[in-house]
Amino acid sequence: SPEGEGRTVRTTCAYCGVGCGIAATPTGAREVAIRGDDAHPANRGSLCSKGTHLGETVGLSGRLLHPMIGERRASWDKALDLVAKRFKDTIARHGPDSVAFYVSGQLLTEDYYVANKLMKGFIGSANIDTNSRLCMSSAVAGHNRAFGEDVVPASYADLDEADLVVLVGSNTAWCHPVVYQRIQAARAARGTRLVVIDPRRTETCEGADLHLPLRPGSDVALMNGLLAWLAEQGLVDTAFTDRHVEVPEGFWEHLATGHDLWTTAATCDLDPALLRRFYEMFAAHPRTVTLFSQGVNQSIRGTDQVNAIINVHLATGRIGRPGAAPFSITGQPNAMGGREVGGLASTLAAHMDFAPDNVARVGRFWAAPAMATKPGLKAVDLFRAIGEGRIKALWIMATNPAVSLPDAGTVRAALEKCPFVVVSDVVANTDTSVHADVRLPAAAWGEKDGTVTNSERTVSRQRPFMALPGEARPDWWIVKEVARRMGWRSAFAYDHPAEIWREHARLTAYQNEGSRVLDLHDKAAIGNAAYDAMEPFRWGGAPFADGRFPTPSGRARMLRVGQMELQAPLADWPLTLNTGRYRDQWHTMTRTGLAPKLARHREEPLVEVHPADAAALGLADGDLASVSTPQGQSTFRVMLSDGQRPGEIFTPIHWTDQVSTGGRTGLLSRPLVDPHSGQPGFKSTPAALARV
Ligand code: SF4
Repeated sequence: SPEGEGRTVRTTCAYCGVGCGIAATPTGAREVAIRGDDAHPANRGSLCSKGTHLGETVGLSGRLLHPMIGERRASWDKALDLVAKRFKDTIARHGPDSVAFYVSGQLLTEDYYVANKLMKGFIGSANIDTNSRLCMSSAVAGHNRAFGEDVVPASYADLDEADLVVLVGSNTAWCHPVVYQRIQAARAARGTRLVVIDPRRTETCEGADLHLPLRPGSDVALMNGLLAWLAEQGLVDTAFTDRHVEVPEGFWEHLATGHDLWTTAATCDLDPALLRRFYEMFAAHPRTVTLFSQGVNQSIRGTDQVNAIINVHLATGRIGRPGAAPFSITGQPNAMGGREVGGLASTLAAHMDFAPDNVARVGRFWAAPAMATKPGLKAVDLFRAIGEGRIKALWIMATNPAVSLPDAGTVRAALEKCPFVVVSDVVANTDTSVHADVRLPAAAWGEKDGTVTNSERTVSRQRPFMALPGEARPDWWIVKEVARRMGWRSAFAYDHPAEIWREHARLTAYQNEGSRVLDLHDKAAIGNAAYDAMEPFRWGGAPFADGRFPTPSGRARMLRVGQMELQAPLADWPLTLNTGRYRDQWHTMTRTGLAPKLARHREEPLVEVHPADAAALGLADGDLASVSTPQGQSTFRVMLSDGQRPGEIFTPIHWTDQVSTGGRTGLLSRPLVDPHSGQPGFKSTPAALARV
């Protein structure tokens, strides 16, 4: 039960994957004082603006407080019975693959575990995907290809010890501010060099030694060019690669042609002298962390871009050593926890894939009556299947795909067409929940009780400090009640999140002979009190420090990845649309939109345009302009910015129908995905701009 007024509760931030610890002190009914938790290793007391203003977001404005069937309030029993019956009936008539869950990095690990178990072990389908697919699934695929397991081989402490930090496709100053503060502190303390690789000159570039404004989508060419140059200089760590890395045949020969400095500079549209400075800086600082985020992942070649970065680190032995690692930094509070329990349609549980022995092992552990034997539909394909009538019952948990998925207009049409849609959420009315047949009120941050894992593999507790309002219930409770009503009572007999945690921890170590880095067996027998008191801990120790990787050979794998052909601008769509976040907003603003102080930073959705492009179109700062793409159209206010590359525009992802008639970036993005990860390419959509 939540702590009382005046008692400080240590919990974890509701927002990004930095995973900052928060000390929350309730000061009244639905009022709380927030400060950073000095004892949390992720932030050591620091918070960014979003975390600092969390106290303004815990009111009940807009909350969904009761189960709803259509527009009528219903009892929990009636709503849960209906959900269980409709899912059971649909499965009986059309098979297990006719139903799906679409979940979220906002869920706690325990919520994720129960939903994954129900779908993959009991319903018998792997049609459970998560909005993390939009965030970092290319990093997952890249890790699996290179390391044999989805392991981030870095920690924030590596940023303290690095001599060079390279940020690729990351506006860290806005999107992961506490990590950025840590990098700046290292710069002040020990002169750490900082390079930013990003088509846009963002606020992150202001504190950097170098900014490489590369052509969007040319990341593989840049990393291949760097590796070719290092090889030419004799700077490949052959002692490391000979012992610890599988290098594919023809790899170096492939790099030897077409990857010289001049060709690479031309492909990336960079000044060769600038590129050389980066290469030389990289060569001079073996302790390098390359931190990458959505600019790398959200691409139709995202997985290759991830592997191009990892290739450089493997070739130079910059991995498994203090201050040296490729570092995927995640967007959401529990993107990593979801990965650990198999929240993605392409993974099973405990970092396993769908290899037959893994399916059998998890099936034994769960005593599963109907194990999924193959990956399910990834997010974009899943919603396409809904639109085509192949998915007939859908449960969306804690996410707003009618705004956030690419081609959001088609997603809305699919939701409208789906015979049965359940939405469990904190918020009563979202662009998604207006399509729901049943809405189930979920627990919010400050009420939830469980764990999250941040970008550096640190597991932290989210603890409640407020009572559940109305009839809201934790997500794990809602899922297990539906599972029990579907007939699986004993397998879902959970009464406390600690029971779920213990089961998840046991599964990570179940009959795996220590073959996975993710192994939580030392946390599998903790009592409820110890679970409640659990201090943040990082699993996996210092991965790969012994030079061993969780592949069959024990070696990491370099991959031969090539630069995709970059399209010239199209006549009707002469610009390229890039998308991203604002400093003080989060996702679809359902929480940050409640904090008035956060709105001051950017009060409305802006399209950032290079002054030369604006002049050619007769646009001035502050004008309203229509952004159109092959997918759709929406209106934004123009902001001139010489941080934009000419020919490229930028819009934010946050605005929804609930708050605005314009600024709808999701309507503009194409549903094109990376072939390995299924992650959509949000960062380069052909677009046109015109005065309204
Ligand atoms: Fe929260 Fe991320 Fe800000 Fe930390 S950096 S306070 S986790 S939003």
